[in-house]
Amino acid sequence: MATETKTAQTLNADALELQKFGDVAHKWWDKNSEFKPLHEINPLRLNWIDGLAALDGKRVLDVGCGGGILSESMYFKGADVTGIDLGEKAINVAKLHQLESGAKVNYQLIAVEQLAAEQPASFDIVTCMEMLEHVPDPAAIVAACAKLVKPGGAVFFSTINRSPKAYLFAVIGAEYILNILPKGTHDYAKFIKPSELSGWARSAELNVGKMRGMSYNPMTQHYSLGDDVAVNYMMHTVLAG
Ligand code: SAH
Repeated sequence: MATETKTAQTLNADALELQKFGDVAHKWWDKNSEFKPLHEINPLRLNWIDGLAALDGKRVLDVGCGGGILSESMYFKGADVTGIDLGEKAINVAKLHQLESGAKVNYQLIAVEQLAAEQPASFDIVTCMEMLEHVPDPAAIVAACAKLVKPGGAVFFSTINRSPKAYLFAVIGAEYILNILPKGTHDYAKFIKPSELSGWARSAELNVGKMRGMSYNPMTQHYSLGDDVAVNYMMHTVLAG
């Protein structure tokens, strides 16, 4: 954890957040673990991204890739994928898992702001899913993603809305009633309204396109995409130019 703490002090990262993911990272590919929701939403978000930006043959960057659930699936859709994260354990799990799965993703332990300084305008598609609500300065992450994508390229975000319904479903429901997620996984104050996310996107010259909500039905225990963005949602943006 020492490297993670040091990194987090100097970068736009929260050491406790990284530790939370690091502590359970060995379970990343266990579909019945706390990562179950990520496994369940993955086909939904993958198909949405693919439908809007056609992954096959594209150079893709997955920011905050964790153990690589989305990164690997984009690779298997034909993309040339780089996955970055500041969680050392998560990146190690991702590297190990691809030995098993046969995915060839280029995983790196590097901050998105640093990669943006080193390789601006070099990706066709950037994805940053379920990460913005865990960082101190999400607007800076949005700006770095915009810097990394080529003009006309797409940047996809997903996060949790700061709404009473999100508090009820994403915190009370998921962490306290259904026990889908460990208590303390999400901090309501860090949830992000679509108006805030689109404001940060526009400031970074990203034109906001489509939005899609992801809802969990506790009766069927399944996720689905829909128009309700009150809890989990995704946003599609395109860099001007
Ligand atoms: N995007 C993946 C994982 C989401 S979990 C998916 O949707 O499947 C959140 C991830 O964000 C964790 O892997 C955590 O290590 C990472 N993370 C948190 N703060 C970060 C930061 N400042 N920079 C990069 N990654 C970060």
